[in-house]
Amino acid sequence: MKDAVLESRPILERFRLDGKVALVTGGGQGIGRAFCHALADAGARVAVVDMAREAAEAVAGELAARKAESLAVVVDVTNPDHRRQMVETVLRRWGTLTISVNNAGMGNWCDAEKVTPEDWGRIMRLNLDAVFFCAQEEARVMVKTGYGKIINTASMSGHIVNTPQNQVAYNTSKAGIIHMTRTLAAEWAARGIRMNSISPGYTRTALVENLLATPEGKSMLGRWLPMIPMNRMAEVTDLQGAVVYLASEASDYMTGHDMVIDGGYCVW
Ligand code: NAD
Repeated sequence: MKDAVLESRPILERFRLDGKVALVTGGGQGIGRAFCHALADAGARVAVVDMAREAAEAVAGELAARKAESLAVVVDVTNPDHRRQMVETVLRRWGTLTISVNNAGMGNWCDAEKVTPEDWGRIMRLNLDAVFFCAQEEARVMVKTGYGKIINTASMSGHIVNTPQNQVAYNTSKAGIIHMTRTLAAEWAARGIRMNSISPGYTRTALVENLLATPEGKSMLGRWLPMIPMNRMAEVTDLQGAVVYLASEASDYMTGHDMVIDGGYCVW
């Protein structure tokens, strides 16, 4: 019998992504930007996908400055034509797509009795519908090569109910991502596609920083921190190891899994 431990490549080499082609939606800032940098550092060519042109181009420029091959793709992932263009643009430039991170998402705080159909629809179209239909476009390419890694950004809010703020639409959309990820992982496993999700806890991004600058936000942070065993929010860099692992061959036997990175919030 072959000795897999002795004959396989060294473990850190199996985390490398040299020459692989990746896209990250919502890559223009925050968590998506950190994911772009992580994948590029590990050797991937990275398409920074965002509806904000300046942000996408700025991050693509940051990657290029670190000698990574990069591309800014300006699309609105809620638009079906744009989703197709996103994948076509990557294929035109690099001829393949191995890793996709469906990360663009938004939150809103609203008491349930005040949520309008428009509020609900806006959240679902971006956080859930766009993640599924992006994955569908990406998988159509990956099944042709028989290998692909799809990583969705969910949230600890898909597991727990945040407090004190009310956010029923967001929580529901993120729980939907986690179960959709399991479902597609099962359906596409035989075609070589691995699909997993990452569930961050409270993470310090520009959006959260702005919120925390308000009096309401400050009191919110005072309520959140004692609920986090590590007693701090995540930095975006705390999430980078997970995306590289899930994108790499090191995780090839993992599919349908949700990696919770929340400083222990869900443990309590
Ligand atoms: P962010 O608002 O800082 O960045 C989101 C990016 O997505 C922006 O660059 C924005 O332009 C882009 N975007 C938004 N709508 C888009 C669309 N329709 N098409 C293309 N691009 C679009 O957000 P973030 O805090 O970095 O969050 C990223 C993901 O992580 C989201 O899915 C969010 O729900 C999730 N998340 C965030 C936190 C947190 O505390 N920040 C916690 C858990 C999960």
